[in-house]
Amino acid sequence: MKRLLIDSSFFQTRIVLAQDDEPIEMFYESKKQKSIVGNIYAGRIVSVLKGMQACFVDIGEEKNAYLPLGGQKKIKANSTMCVQVEKDAYGQKGAVLTDRISFTGTFVVLIPNDKGFGISKKITDQNERDRIFNIMQEIVPDGFGLIIRTEGFGKSREEFKKEIDELILSAEAVEKADFIKAPCLLRSDDDTVIRAIRELFTSDVDEMIINDTHYYDKALKSIRQYPEKIKLYEQNIPLFEYYGIESKLEKLYQNKVWLKSGGFIIIEQTEACVVIDVNTGKFTGKKDIQETFLKTNLEAADEIAHQIRLRNLSGIIIIDFIDMKYSENREILQKRLENDVKHDRIKTTVVGMTKLGLMQITRKKTSIPLLMQMSDSCLCCKGRGFVPSAEYTAGKVLREIVSLFSSTLFRKVTVSSNKYIISALSVNNRAYINEIENKFHAKIVLKEIDTAAFDYVDIEKSASEVKYRTDKKN
Ligand SMILES: [Zn+2]
Repeated sequence: MKRLLIDSSFFQTRIVLAQDDEPIEMFYESKKQKSIVGNIYAGRIVSVLKGMQACFVDIGEEKNAYLPLGGQKKIKANSTMCVQVEKDAYGQKGAVLTDRISFTGTFVVLIPNDKGFGISKKITDQNERDRIFNIMQEIVPDGFGLIIRTEGFGKSREEFKKEIDELILSAEAVEKADFIKAPCLLRSDDDTVIRAIRELFTSDVDEMIINDTHYYDKALKSIRQYPEKIKLYEQNIPLFEYYGIESKLEKLYQNKVWLKSGGFIIIEQTEACVVIDVNTGKFTGKKDIQETFLKTNLEAADEIAHQIRLRNLSGIIIIDFIDMKYSENREILQKRLENDVKHDRIKTTVVGMTKLGLMQITRKKTSIPLLMQMSDSCLCCKGRGFVPSAEYTAGKVLREIVSLFSSTLFRKVTVSSNKYIISALSVNNRAYINEIENKFHAKIVLKEIDTAAFDYVDIEKSASEVKYRTDKKN
């Protein structure tokens, strides 16, 4: 049973393609569903705030929206104008509007009465930026500016062109819209979700289940095939939980994926490429070791093809399979992998083994990997994956204290930090601390704070001398 499950909640929309309740592909969009940001309205001016260079506009929402004006514009109450929402209503405040309209597609934002183009800073790969730059130089339409969104990553000239043409049509439609009916909605852009549904809802999908009436209606309207397969989910238990998918998706955050045989794979995503390491589990003893290696590698190949698709990994993918002695086995493995990636709707090529025995795969880049979409950089290590060790930090703290005692009159410090750094100081450096205390006739007090962050160190200094230390030695 192949299902397309659409879970749309207040904050985000997730679409999972599942084969027998095993997720095989996923789409994620974190946009507040109730958000009206980006919507374009024919608004009616309710009142003009002369002193504030702003006006209140009725856009048909509960609260009148606020439109700051750029000085020179003359606007009269009860007139109509085209406005776009910049910020959602919040608390007592209505939505904030702009009269500088733009049209957001999946890959680009089109800005009428503008020129030139910019590329999202989130696309960091210089080659990709150059590639997009070259395409844009050719296709930026006259009279419009463009912003290339992060989703533009990897898109072809044709894909860009098609979307730009669609957006130009939308812009023209808005321009020609009938303002007599104001306030009214002229355009809303939740098209990305519908577009993803359209791509994933292929003829072999048995049913599409949507937990949200808005997208259910929209899907029925915009997807003209198999309406009998489109179903609204109305139960209380969350949709993905009902199909046993939620817990499986949690694993997307883990680098390690277990194989049934007891082996596992480790997936590392770097800026340059994806590296996947295959590891054997415990050896089963007397059995032929080469046979075991092949079996584990084949199982890993299946899982890797599955994970590449689910995680939307792309670009160069390098797999370090377990080394196998016989070339026949290596051929069997490559054939298996080639067969596995055939199920992917995104073009994936098994290039073959390098001289060092690493398997190379390339997969067309269509959007950024799922993990990146669903993650922020680690607040502790800023994404490096490492933080200074407690031991290293302890050494640094003691150097600072020595420097303080030798160049000032302060003779007492209180070091407050987390238990790891305090224990690195009090246990591993006890002798050195005693030495410093004796040498400078000073006192170092250590204070453990339960709630201290991993890198929190406070050195509080005071002048108080510690008399008893002076009598002890010398
Ligand atoms: Zn980290």
